[in-house]
This record gives sequence, C-alpha cells and structure tokens, in this order.
Amino acid sequence: MQIPAALFQSLQNTKGFNKEAFKTVHESGEQVTSIRLNVAKTCNFQLSAFNFQLNRVPWSTNGYYLSERPSFTADPLFHAGTYYVQEASSMFLEEVLNQTVNLAMPLRLLDLCAAPGGKSTLIQSVINAESLLVSNEVIKTRVNILAENIAKWGAANVIVTNNDPKDFQRLENYFDVIVVDAPCSGSGLFRKDPAAINEWSEQNVQLCSQRQQRILADVLPSLKEDGVLIYSTCSYSEEEDEQVADWLIDEFKMENVPLKIEDQWGITETQSPKHSAFGYRFYPDKVKGEGFFIAAFRKFKTENGQWKMGRQKNKPERLNAKEVEIVRPYLKDADVFFFIKQKEEVLAVPMIFEADLAAIQNTLYIKKAGVKMGTVIRNELIPDHELAISTVVQRGLTSVEVEREIALQYLRRQDLSISTPVKGWALITHQQQPLGWAKILPNRINNYYPKEWRILNK
Ligand code: SAM
Repeated sequence: MQIPAALFQSLQNTKGFNKEAFKTVHESGEQVTSIRLNVAKTCNFQLSAFNFQLNRVPWSTNGYYLSERPSFTADPLFHAGTYYVQEASSMFLEEVLNQTVNLAMPLRLLDLCAAPGGKSTLIQSVINAESLLVSNEVIKTRVNILAENIAKWGAANVIVTNNDPKDFQRLENYFDVIVVDAPCSGSGLFRKDPAAINEWSEQNVQLCSQRQQRILADVLPSLKEDGVLIYSTCSYSEEEDEQVADWLIDEFKMENVPLKIEDQWGITETQSPKHSAFGYRFYPDKVKGEGFFIAAFRKFKTENGQWKMGRQKNKPERLNAKEVEIVRPYLKDADVFFFIKQKEEVLAVPMIFEADLAAIQNTLYIKKAGVKMGTVIRNELIPDHELAISTVVQRGLTSVEVEREIALQYLRRQDLSISTPVKGWALITHQQQPLGWAKILPNRINNYYPKEWRILNK
C-alpha cells in the first residue's frame, strides 16, 4: 500500500500521528468489521446468530465488532434492517450527541450529508419519538440508497430530503442540532478502501477544505441559537479538520464544545492552531476503527434567533374518514398518526410533526416522509414494502414465518416453495422479523419484494 509521501509530510507535526505505526497498520491487511444493532427491531434478535465472536465497540451502546466479515447479503436479518454495518469510529457520534445535547427533549435534527445513512440511523436510535430527524443528501443518485436504508431502519420520525445545503436557509433558526459529516479527501479510509489512495492529492485536500467551508456557511443559518453543530470528516488533513474548526469560530463566532474521552478508547484530542478548539482524531493504529475526525460547536445567541413558521403554500391532501378506517388496522399505534396522500400513496406521519412536515414541504424536496403505507384501491389497502419493514407495522397481521433458505428465495424475488393455510396478504418473516409482503393465492404465491432491492447473486 503506497501512502502518498505528501500526506506523511503534512501530518508529521500533527498530534497523535505516528508514521511507523500508521504504515504498519495500513500494510497489515487487517480489516475491522462492525455492526450497530437496531434496538427498535432486535427484541428477538440473537447476537448468537453470528457464529463468531462479538465484542462491544467501547463508545457505542449497540455497536459490536465481528471477529470475521460474514456475507451480509446472505443474512436475511441484514435485509430486515435489524442492524447496520457501520465503521466503528463513526459510532462515536453517539457519544458526542450524549455529551452535547439533551436527548430527552423533543428536538429537530438535521443530518446534512447523510447518504448512505450510517449517521442518520445512529441518530434515529438515540433520539426520542417526539424528535424529528431530517436526513438530507444533495446528490440525487445517492438519495435512493439513503431512503432505502432509512426505510429498513423502520422509524416514522425521519424525513429524507434531497437538497443543496443552501436550500436550508429557508428554514432559518429551525434545527436544534446539525450534523455535517462532510465530503472529504478520504485519507481515513485508505485501509478499508486502498483505491481511495489514487484519488488523494494535496490539491484535493484544499478543494475539500473550501467545499466544507461552503457547506457549513450555507447550512448554519438554519441552526437555532444555542443549537449544536457536529462536524466530522474521514480525513487526517488539518486543513479539513482543525483549520475548519478555527474558520467556524472566526466566521460564525461558534463556541467549541470540549468532550470527555476515556484514555482506554485510544482517541487523540487535538487543539486547533488559532483558537485551541478541541477536536477528536481516530488513528487506526490507536483505535479499532478507521480514520475519523469529529468536533462539536454551539451557536451563540443572536438578536433574532427564533424560527417563524411561514405561510403554507401547499397543504398535503388528507385521507377521508373511510380511507383512514381502512389503513388504521395496519398500524401498531394508529392514534399517533395522521394520514396524507401523495400521488395516491398513503403516508403515515406522527401527528406531532404536522407543522414540521408542512414547513419542510414548503421549502425542501422531500424524498420520503414518515412511513409509506400503500395505496387504497376499492376499499382495500395494497400495502407498501416500507410498511412491512417499519417498526410501526401492526405485528398481529397475518404472517408466514420462513427458514433462512426460503427467506433468501423471497429476498431474491423468486417463486416461493412453501405450503401454508394462510390466504391473502401476509408478512413474510424470518426469526419473527418482517422481510416484506407476499400475496397468497389458491394456486400460487405472489412475491412483492421490491424489484430494485432484490438480491442478485445466487
Ligand atoms: N454521513 C454518511 C454516513 O454516515 O453514512 C456519509 C456521508 S459522506 C462522508 C459525505 C456525503 O456528502 C456524501 O453522501 C456526498 O454525496 C455528500 N456531498 C457531496 N458533495 C456535497 C455538497 N456539496 N454538499 C453537501 N453534501 C455533499
């Protein structure tokens, strides 16, 4: 592995950087695999389903290292959204949120650079049901995978948007917390993805640093006064880390928030050159995880720091009373939802977010909101896949429990070879976890697993 000499050169005076140890760990070929459990789904999930050793990620409540990398594609529980495969250093975001934000409060949070959804699924797991997460991805081709991963995570308190950071200026002083996991030069991922080395250059580091500043400048007006900004990269370059921290303090009078870290975690605390702002570096020779940088800031109070709801241009179409009665039995806790129609599709959104949804709908492009329930046709709900894999689906619905091989057949969207007395729409479950819908007819079973999500390999 040929790590660029210019990177070594630029890091020689950076706190915590040890060239020899860094080279050794990159050349060792060691790969670290970790997953984070979806506690909203895993009541029946047994970690013993993995036939090898699991060890806790020290800074994460539900993160585990796996002693081997299994084929996740061949695990139905992966497709059911019972866990997310996430790099361990990134899971430190949980600790940062715990230390900087009162998570017991109802909050509005924005994950600005969210695809494919690792940080968003983590944030969703640590916030309460009265908090709303807006998970945004600017790049159109990446927003689908984000929406898919959010759907698999299953929660109703997430809105996925596809907007440029500057679009959020229309929601001035709106968010309590903004997470910017910025696009970066990617040196922290060299061990996991050696191809990233070819993309790295000093010039790209400069370009990334400028882009990071532009993204932050664009989104910061939407952070409330006293709100928290969490900034992270997977780059070791000071230009993208500590220097961005200094720039935030210079330009926006942000206040840096120091964090408590435990010695045994192996995380390196650094201070920025100008304002001595605290940042936290993860070197793969010191932590069991990839390269990462994270820092937290608080926005100063200003004169006019209150968000005001603007006039609503388009109100979403509500379901009529009859349609509501048709869809309600599909939900675990139907009373907490209101129902809207979007191009004939019914969405269930928690009632407490009615005003938020209206505000966001007026200002941003929404890719997904709440839980898509399906379409009401001739007094019947044709249920959507999103409902099946959500955590709000009524679990008393007709279901058919299948073994792993049949579950994989289902996930490949093949014909199902099962005999069951069940008729009509049914949830196909594996280890009690819904995988999706099937319609059981007298002489065949229609597999409704989404075509675009199906497993393609054998
Ligand atoms: N937070 C994600 C996760 O944990 O799964 C990873 C995010 S990745 C480091 C950075 C993201 O920023 C990418 O999805 C990328 O498409 C997006 N991005 C690229 N250019 C951007 C820009 N100009 N403004 C905002 N986001 C951008």
